[in-house]
Amino acid sequence: MAGLAAAVEVAGSGRHVIVHEAGRACGGRARSYDDKQLGCRIDNGNHLFLSANKTLFRYLGLTGALDTLAGPKAPLFPFVDLEEDARWTLDLSRGRMPWWVFQPHRRVPDMRLPDLRSLYALMQAGPDTTVSDCLLPGALARRLLEPLAVSALNTDCATGSAALMGAVIKQSLSLGGSACIPFHARDGLSETFVDPAVAHLRAMRAEVRTQSRMTGIETAQGRVTALHTAEGTIPLDAEDHVIVATPAPVARGLLENHLHGLVTPTAFESILNLHFRLDTPPQPIGSFARCGFMGVVGGIAEWVFLRGSVLSVTVSAANRHAARDPEDLARAIWREVRRACDPTLSIPLPAAPAEQRIVWEKRATFAATPEQNRLRPGPATPLANLALAGDWTNTGLPATLEGAMRSGILAVHALGLRAPG
Ligand SMILES: Cc1cc2nc3c(=O)[nH]c(=O)nc-3n(C[C@H](O)[C@H](O)[C@H](O)COP(=O)(O)OP(=O)(O)OC[C@H]3O[C@@H](n4cnc5c(N)ncnc54)[C@H](O)[C@@H]3O)c2cc1C
Repeated sequence: MAGLAAAVEVAGSGRHVIVHEAGRACGGRARSYDDKQLGCRIDNGNHLFLSANKTLFRYLGLTGALDTLAGPKAPLFPFVDLEEDARWTLDLSRGRMPWWVFQPHRRVPDMRLPDLRSLYALMQAGPDTTVSDCLLPGALARRLLEPLAVSALNTDCATGSAALMGAVIKQSLSLGGSACIPFHARDGLSETFVDPAVAHLRAMRAEVRTQSRMTGIETAQGRVTALHTAEGTIPLDAEDHVIVATPAPVARGLLENHLHGLVTPTAFESILNLHFRLDTPPQPIGSFARCGFMGVVGGIAEWVFLRGSVLSVTVSAANRHAARDPEDLARAIWREVRRACDPTLSIPLPAAPAEQRIVWEKRATFAATPEQNRLRPGPATPLANLALAGDWTNTGLPATLEGAMRSGILAVHALGLRAPG
């Protein structure tokens, strides 16, 4: 996403752009593929994003993909609490004044108004503070702020950076419900974020070369002078610029001999997605039908998404489940899915687990702790024509689609290829 966002931005300025992607297709950690076991197309993982994500919506606008989204078109978030047997739909008021907190049917059940001070504490947090340091115990923390923080940071609250979570709140919830309308890809991540961008780039005469792995660079006199790729060495001329938008460990391996003192995040968290394929598409009712997803509190599952006949479950910060037997985990999650979904489906789910696929992204994101956040480099480098991009660079946000795309734009600005604004 960082590389594609940068490419789309630069291609729009009339320059010639070449994207080198190591994989068979673009998309990286946000991609769709045909799964032989399930016999259908799935995403590597469910992705939720918000109307506040300005860079992301600009990208979708430029690539003509705004009509590929799904979601309730309102700031609605259905939740179920499996431990305390409760269901509610968070129904934010659209304006900046949070009227929803005064209306019991719109807010988190049993929350107390003084607990909203947790939000203020997160927004004011310093660089060493963790999310847990800022949360006042109570229903607001357990039923909303903890689940949101774990999903946004992909890191548990005890170690997750409060400053990064504070940045998310400042750029979404604190702006009012209009900034918090949730969206997901209607047909698939590639259909929304990749295919339209690649088509747009080709229309702008940019080249997108897949299976074209960068293996190294050559430098002289403070500039990158050649790229080593799987296809051979590509000499660069004085006008050429390079944006390295690979994951952090790859960027480090490619560049550390040329950028002395380069530091990058070193700790990563996994995300587990469990996709269940049903024989017939479940028919949701109520806000689950309207939203296409549901938040789950008090279980292993954290979010359930429904697309056609596939129910997909997300578990963030999943390193904590790494020692569990995957089949046992899948059975436990299926039991939770049935409890969460059955009351919101016109026909209950079958008792036996449906056909399933576990996608365990081991290095889904950098661990968003205060320590790791300090290791994120900015886009500019000592090499005049080289910039860094990727969700792990210093965007001020956790590793998200918005953060990744923003990093691509920051890299473009750092190279002076397009002026900010
Ligand atoms: C399961 C999962 C769920 C997520 N859920 C959400 C969500 O709900 N909301 C949200 O906003 N974000 C979510 N994220 C985070 C989001 O997907 C990432 O932050 C974002 O996709 C990262 O993009 P990127 O461009 O920084 O990195 P990547 O996607 O990792 O892209 C790097 C690219 O570089 C390529 N590459 C690697 N080495 C080389 C090389 N040597 N030469 C050339 N190319 C190379 C890779 O193939 C890849 O395409 C989720 C992530 C995962 C894994």
